[in-house]
Amino acid sequence: KVKETGRNNYKFFNKAMNEEISTKLLLENDLRKALLKNELEVYYQPQLDLQTNRIVAVEALLRWHHPDKGFMSPAEFIPIAEETGLIVPIGEWVLKEACKQTKLWRDQGHDLSISVNLSNQQLISNTIVEVIKEITSQTELNPQYLTLEITESMAITNLTDTLNKLKELQDFGVNISLDDFGTGYSSLSYLSTLPIDSVKIDKSFINDITNKTKKEIVKSVSSIAHSRGLTVVAEGVEEEEQLNIVRSLGIGMIQGYYLSKPIPSEEMQSRFLLSSFV
Ligand code: C2E
Ligand code: MG
Ligand code: MG
Ligand code: MG
Repeated sequence: KVKETGRNNYKFFNKAMNEEISTKLLLENDLRKALLKNELEVYYQPQLDLQTNRIVAVEALLRWHHPDKGFMSPAEFIPIAEETGLIVPIGEWVLKEACKQTKLWRDQGHDLSISVNLSNQQLISNTIVEVIKEITSQTELNPQYLTLEITESMAITNLTDTLNKLKELQDFGVNISLDDFGTGYSSLSYLSTLPIDSVKIDKSFINDITNKTKKEIVKSVSSIAHSRGLTVVAEGVEEEEQLNIVRSLGIGMIQGYYLSKPIPSEEMQSRFLLSSFV
């Protein structure tokens, strides 16, 4: 009896596992073709400078229009792209696309910078510095207008190697930002040890910023960051009340639904870039 149940459990587990594996394989197969089939699109989310009240930068965020599943969120396919290494060509495509678009906007007279998320696979690749140099040169975007977003967990995977690459990229003129700060392996010491130009305080902190303890944490992080000369960006600002607290803490930039969700380039253009001086 016991044995039977055990076997059934095993069978059930096996079936669930098989289904999970085949779903993943199918998705992986689709993702492999997504680039060639033009199913990927870069969306842009504006960042507001609270000092000047101007949109000074946008973050590039990847979207996948899956032929059957429809619109897929990065949370669903970025992990697969990372596991399979597909994130490397996809990430390069995002970089190229985002730099090209930013160069176009700049040529139209908009003083914008672009932030692009870098995956761990890209950062550990031996060619990443060359790839960035190549893309900025091809798209004719001055590297000073490009920010690469990394996370703490990525940075510490192979610290010495990462430090060297980040420094090389900074020497070339690219800016480095520490994304999702406050999650994962968070340590305040990263704010001084990592070669970075800005830090993005994770949206989980901004979400609860009306909470006194959370507010104190954000205040400490931003004051340390400022003392290191870093720009502080508050991620995930949705409400005016959150914006007011963020502003009261002296934080320089915000990004979040309060301003806009990530949107296609044309919408970015029509909603945020019309009052230009060209
Ligand atoms: P992230 O880099 O931290 O990007 C910010 C995420 O927060 C985006 O989710 C954005 O839509 C969302 N967000 C922005 N403002 C708000 C807000 O006010 N409220 C809420 N609830 N959410 C907000 P998204 O676009 O789904 O991307 C999720 C993650 O996927 C990104 O987090 C990033 O880690 C990864 N990702 C997206 N595009 C790329 C890419 O091209 N390359 C790589 N390697 N990763 C990417
Ligand atoms: Mg990011
Ligand atoms: Mg992230
Ligand atoms: Mg983030």
